[in-house]
Amino acid sequence: MSTEQTAGYFGSFGGSFIPPELQEVMDYLAQQFETYKTDLEFVEEFQYYLREYVGRENPLTYAKHLTDKLGGAKIYLKREDLNHTGSHKINNVLGQILLAKRMGAKRIIAETGAGQHGVATATVCAMFDMDCTIYMGAEDTRRQALNVFRMELLGAKVVPVEKGQGRLKDAVDEALGDLVQNYRNTFYLLGSAVGPHPFPTMVKHFQSIISEESKRQILEKEGRLPTAVLACTGGGSNAIGSFAHYIDEPSVRLIGVEPDQAPSLTEGVPAVLHGFKCLVLLDENGEPRKTYSIAAGLDYPGIGPEHSYLKESGRAEYYTVTNEEVLNAFQVLSKTEGIIPALESAHAVAHALKMAPTMSNDDILIVNLSGRGDKDVEQVFHMLQK
Ligand SMILES: *Cc1c(COP(=O)(O)O)cnc(C)c1O
Repeated sequence: MSTEQTAGYFGSFGGSFIPPELQEVMDYLAQQFETYKTDLEFVEEFQYYLREYVGRENPLTYAKHLTDKLGGAKIYLKREDLNHTGSHKINNVLGQILLAKRMGAKRIIAETGAGQHGVATATVCAMFDMDCTIYMGAEDTRRQALNVFRMELLGAKVVPVEKGQGRLKDAVDEALGDLVQNYRNTFYLLGSAVGPHPFPTMVKHFQSIISEESKRQILEKEGRLPTAVLACTGGGSNAIGSFAHYIDEPSVRLIGVEPDQAPSLTEGVPAVLHGFKCLVLLDENGEPRKTYSIAAGLDYPGIGPEHSYLKESGRAEYYTVTNEEVLNAFQVLSKTEGIIPALESAHAVAHALKMAPTMSNDDILIVNLSGRGDKDVEQVFHMLQK
């Protein structure tokens, strides 16, 4: 079920390109993860909180009105938007904090860009009574003041990082510096299927619950596998979780959808970014390119190593959609199904709107709704005014 070959490598992608003192911390983390991921008590505790706190399993909803409107493939929606805190991110932060607890950590640190991963991390830290420090670029704290307040309300300490450009990259650097100094009592909780080994493998493991459920659900509802599974890709965690249990089912197409203004998989080249090798968007000077997605969660110049490999090997396909198509999909799903999707998820919906009418009504599409759109309503309001 995994395309991982030697530890941490997916073809030539992944691995770990970090200073020796950090490598020791990652080696220990990898070893602990391997120990606990099959530990019966650990697995049962994870399942308990997924059920009682996150609200799983969530439905695989048949989008009848959307299907009728488009004519063609049957569309099903995997409802990560119904999770506690409104997205798939909670699956991963829950798994990692349970691991942190087993490892004896007293303190959780994380980086956040727009604040979504920071809020998810602060949530589980409140739940498990852990000290929580979130590093956030100073510029981002000003643009996302409400998310800073949410994290503080949940009991987290938010540290604005003034260094560099005061953006996500600078926050990552500060968090890594903290980890190197405090690794004996501190756990670094990473938010997507990126970073040095073991993070991509670990994040996939915790997010695989999405396709574990959707596969069981589609077999119950339709008695067969879907034609394709679609998900948006930022760092790639909701997509790899949606794909995981279908990777070894060659009849199922795996489709990742990215913004045309952050097309790492469509236009990226192999390079090392943030301690691992993946497809990266580079500018003419060989520096990571500035990206501008309307969906904050997709604004990243790299992509998880396993997606880089799935693209290179041809097992998965990746497409881009435009802002206009995303805004249209946001409104179409709201009006036809009464579901306001996150702008990130609306990328996957936008591609489904293009694909479904070209397919037969024997075909089935599963679209992963990674999150709900409440957080984006005000932004869309302003964009539609223009
Ligand atoms: C963070 C986020 C994403 C992007 O992250 P991935 O790791 O690519 O899944 C997508 N959708 C929502 C709702 C998010 O919050």
